[in-house]
Amino acid sequence: MPLVVRLLLVSLVIAAAACESKPPQTATAVTPGTPTSSPPSVSPDAPAAKQFAAASSASIGTPKVFGSYTRGCVAGAIQLPLDGAHWQVANPARNRAWGHPGLIAVVQSIATKVAQDGHNGIIIGDLAQPRGGPMPTGHASHQVGLDADIWLHTMPAGKHTTRELDAYNAPPLVDFATLRVTSGFGDAQYSMLKHAAQSPGVERIFISPPIKRAMCERTTSGDRSWLRKIRPWTGHAAHMHVRLACPADSEDCKAQDEPPEGDGCGAELQSWFDDRSWMKPKPGTYVPSVPMTLRALPAACMSVLTDRG
Ligand SMILES: [Zn+2]
Repeated sequence: MPLVVRLLLVSLVIAAAACESKPPQTATAVTPGTPTSSPPSVSPDAPAAKQFAAASSASIGTPKVFGSYTRGCVAGAIQLPLDGAHWQVANPARNRAWGHPGLIAVVQSIATKVAQDGHNGIIIGDLAQPRGGPMPTGHASHQVGLDADIWLHTMPAGKHTTRELDAYNAPPLVDFATLRVTSGFGDAQYSMLKHAAQSPGVERIFISPPIKRAMCERTTSGDRSWLRKIRPWTGHAAHMHVRLACPADSEDCKAQDEPPEGDGCGAELQSWFDDRSWMKPKPGTYVPSVPMTLRALPAACMSVLTDRG
């Protein structure tokens, strides 16, 4: 290919990328004298994900969850500080470090306890968008501010640079040939999973089956009741997904069943190794096949979205 054509193609690609990274242009002209903070207009029959992704701050008012983990929203969310004493937020430009105050408190407490155990700090992935709701990419859940992804790799001895955090990704800690954890799984990972499972309000933690097995095998004495909350699931080999139960302040939060009784280390865990169909889906970016409209969410989510914030 002639050099000039190649250069033109390269500049076109860069231009396209630059356009995508620009903040969305507002279509509404602001007339002098009108309040600039007027509620955003919403389209009930348009996909909800884009509309929730466009809200850059939380709604005001008392924290409240509406709907289910996969179809809902959150009012009065707060943002996890991006750079804490014992944690850092990965991919901060996604603006998904928001949640119900109970979730933010749990994440901070896990980070503190892991540090108290003598480990480096933790790296936080997606929580929720400022007002929750479906996301254009990445998750089916995480809609009500009660879900948090926490990477299993800890921070380096110092901190990650901004550039490292902006492009953060980490390899799985599962060897899928042997279905065992890799040598990267050690005391720090045990500490963060155990403290997460013991945190008040946490109902379940999704993790790859070999990691659940490692947690069962490493817990040789003492209380095992917290292992019940660590639930084998597909994916989740490089991060854990912490989910809180519906908080007491949110009567319109749709609860899930509690995990089955027992530590889950026996027949139930074994069933994941007997039937390995969970290994087939390729980990990747979740994109809903049929976009959820705003109208498909609980009616209260319309007010959450139009709140001035
Ligand atoms: Zn998750």
